[in-house]
Amino acid sequence: MAEVTLREITKIYDGGVLAVDKANIEIRDREFVVLVGPSGCGKSTTLRMIAGLEDISGGELYIDNRLVNDVPPKDRDIAMVFQNYALYPHMTVYENMAFGLKIRKFPKEEIEQRVKEAAKILDIEELLDRKPKALSGGQRQRVAVGRAIVRKPKVFLFDEPLSNLDAKLRVQMRAEISSLHNKLQATMIYVTHDQVEALTMADKIVVMKLGLIQQIGAPLELYNRPRNKFVAGFIGSPPMNFMVVELSKEGDHFVADEGAFKINIPVETAPQLEPYVGKSITFGIRPEDVEFSPEPIPGKTIDGTVTVIEPLGSETHIYLSTGKNQFIGKIDPSVTAAVDGPVSLLPDLAKARFFDLDTELAIYEDPVGDIPTVDEQIAAAEAKEAAEAAAAEQN
Ligand code: ADP
Repeated sequence: MAEVTLREITKIYDGGVLAVDKANIEIRDREFVVLVGPSGCGKSTTLRMIAGLEDISGGELYIDNRLVNDVPPKDRDIAMVFQNYALYPHMTVYENMAFGLKIRKFPKEEIEQRVKEAAKILDIEELLDRKPKALSGGQRQRVAVGRAIVRKPKVFLFDEPLSNLDAKLRVQMRAEISSLHNKLQATMIYVTHDQVEALTMADKIVVMKLGLIQQIGAPLELYNRPRNKFVAGFIGSPPMNFMVVELSKEGDHFVADEGAFKINIPVETAPQLEPYVGKSITFGIRPEDVEFSPEPIPGKTIDGTVTVIEPLGSETHIYLSTGKNQFIGKIDPSVTAAVDGPVSLLPDLAKARFFDLDTELAIYEDPVGDIPTVDEQIAAAEAKEAAEAAAAEQN
């Protein structure tokens, strides 16, 4: 078992920088949790507090129900993989992987057995006698992971481990770390600024901004039901399009007026907008949730001028400007359009998301709540596990 619980964890650096503000995160045994957010949002600080590399200014950190705020890193039973790999250049791969066990006075045979086992899992058995400088970036990354594996820690921590690799290798290592998680069945906490890594690897994503948790949820939960405009824009690529519209109502539909065009939204599609009639709201639509329209359809299409066309083979990204707002649409590659020419995109209104202009919270029929407390997160996770167990029993 290896659960990690952050209760109201806060970090204030010398000089007064509030880097992490009352973070509540419950990490379950064997869960793969990704902390994601733009640079400076506090994700590395959070990870380093879990590792014990950074003092905790407030709140409580538990590993397996044991309060570890003041427990030194070496006694926390965790292993961390760093962005720059932190390998010892003068040691061979074998020695690098063995080092942590050696200083912990493990017997020689046990060290050898663990290093060989890890090397096999990572497919680096041929490299054990090499020095780091004779390895490629991807191989170094594997050695860094190997050094963590041999420790058989309760929890693995990863701090942007793939950001020094080229794009192709990153995709490959992403899959390797996911498969490693399946093999080792260990609890893993992974920090990245890359939302694609978060979406593809995580069981659960924690989105942060300016030291504050914005949302915690499964990848598709965040994609389908972002809590606020920040999460909506951060998760998904290219990002969700936003426009501020004036909302009015005509008969059985709302009218969202952008200025250059109007979109009619049937009341039954978004009844939650009723209190916003007469006000401005933010209308969000993902690039994948629009369709190319050969001509403008009043009340239905987003109309503007093409600024850029990006053919990607499997799809085309078309950029449109209305003068006030920019939009990106993912459209069929067979569609032809000319830069500077008119273009219209038909949004799938069932997929549109709406945001309060002041709070930036998403407007849903059942309103989004606060970030759940640790106890609420535990209760929700236990309910989910019970439901899954019941479903498995039925099969
Ligand atoms: P991220 O990992 O999301 O990029 P960090 O956790 O590294 O963000 O940083 C969060 C905030 O704390 C930033 O404003 C950063 O400038 C600040 N910070 C990080 N390390 C220190 C430090 N040692 N002293 C003072 N401020 C720091």
